[in-house]
Amino acid sequence: MLLITILLLQFYMDFEIYEEKSIRVVLEDVTLDTGIEDAEGNTTSHGYCEPFKKKITLDKEYFENLPFIYQRELLYHELGHCALGLNHVEEEDIMRPRVYSTNKDGSNWKYLVNKMKKRYNDKTK
Ligand SMILES: [Zn+2]
Repeated sequence: MLLITILLLQFYMDFEIYEEKSIRVVLEDVTLDTGIEDAEGNTTSHGYCEPFKKKITLDKEYFENLPFIYQRELLYHELGHCALGLNHVEEEDIMRPRVYSTNKDGSNWKYLVNKMKKRYNDKTK
């Protein structure tokens, strides 16, 4: 859970939303049937958020075996729903469902976060 705590703090700093610290992230043995895998067998449909409960549930086994760059994107994706109220978009974006947008080497992460920030800021204007 240390990794999740670090990622949560990073997220709150990225989006400057400190009042959302009460969102809980739990790892559970859940199976979601909406996953469509990309060529490498990765899908973002391994978590969900319940905004009113301020709770994010992630597929424990899946999450623990996921490379760090995708753990980060999956958590940010769910926080995008839960903490920022963002919907899905069908383009290279953290909020794209089913397929990860992070490059293999993670080099576009800053770009993706900035894009997410822009969508969030545009929404709250
Ligand atoms: Zn989603």
